Amino acid sequence: MNFMSKPLIIANWKCNPSSQKEVERLLDSFREIKRKKEIETVICPPFPYLNLIREKFISGGQDCFWENKGAYTGEVSPLILKDLGCQYVVIGHSERRKYFNETDQIVNKKLKAALNARLKPILCLGEEARDSFNHEGRPVNEMSLIVGEQLEKDLIDLPAERLRDIVIAYEPVWAIGTDNPCSPDDAMKARLFIRKILTKLYDRAAAEKVRVIYGGSVDSKNAVEYIKSAGMEGLLVGGASLNASEFIKIIGSIS
Ligand code: PEP
Repeated sequence: MNFMSKPLIIANWKCNPSSQKEVERLLDSFREIKRKKEIETVICPPFPYLNLIREKFISGGQDCFWENKGAYTGEVSPLILKDLGCQYVVIGHSERRKYFNETDQIVNKKLKAALNARLKPILCLGEEARDSFNHEGRPVNEMSLIVGEQLEKDLIDLPAERLRDIVIAYEPVWAIGTDNPCSPDDAMKARLFIRKILTKLYDRAAAEKVRVIYGGSVDSKNAVEYIKSAGMEGLLVGGASLNASEFIKIIGSIS
C-alpha cells in the first residue's frame, strides 16, 4: 500500500452536465471541498470544460488518444490534455470498452502515451458479471479471471519504474451506475488480488507504489467503508459527483 498518499477522490462527470452554467454552479457548490487539504480531489469533466476546472481543482481527462498529434479527427491527445493543465487521465473505463470497442491492446497504447506525456493514468478494470458458472455448473471467480487478464494485457511492456504514476481503479461493471455497490469485503479481496498480480508481473516494491482505488455506486453512506475497511486508497465517483451535496458528504465522510 502506498501509505504516503492522501485519499484520492476522482469525480467522473462522464457526458455531463450539458452547459457551462451548470459546470460553474457545480464548481461553486464544491468550494468547501477545496479547503480539505487532506484529500486529493480530481475532477474529470467532458473535454470542453477542462479550462473551467483548472484554476479551481486538479483536473483529468476521461480518455486520451495514443498519438500526440496528427490527422485523427475527433481525438484528444495526451499532449493536449497536459497543455490544458490536466494531471490525470482515465483510461479503459468500462463505458469506453463497451461502447467504443476499446480492447486491452488499445488501453495499453493509451497508457504508454499518457505516461510519456507525464500524465497520471487512472486505469479502470473490473469484471462484467458478478457471478458465473462453468459448463459443469461450478462457480467461476469472475473478478480474478477478468481483472488478472486485464492487468496482464493492459500493462504489457510497461517498465516497473512507471508504475508509481499509475492509479488502478477496480470498478466491477455490474456495480457502475446501478445502486448495487460491491461489498467492502469483496473490494478488499480485489485490492489484494491486484497487488498480488502486480507483484507477480513486477516485484513487491513496484507493486506497492501503485494506488488502488474503488469505483461503482459510491455514495455518502458507503464511501468511508471502502477506505477504512477495504483499504482502498481512493474512490472513483460517477453519478454522485454530479450531486453537489452528495459529493461534499462523500469527501466529508473520509476527511
Ligand atoms: C464510474 O463512472 O466510473 C462510476 C463508478 O460511476 P457510478 O459512481 O455512477 O457507479
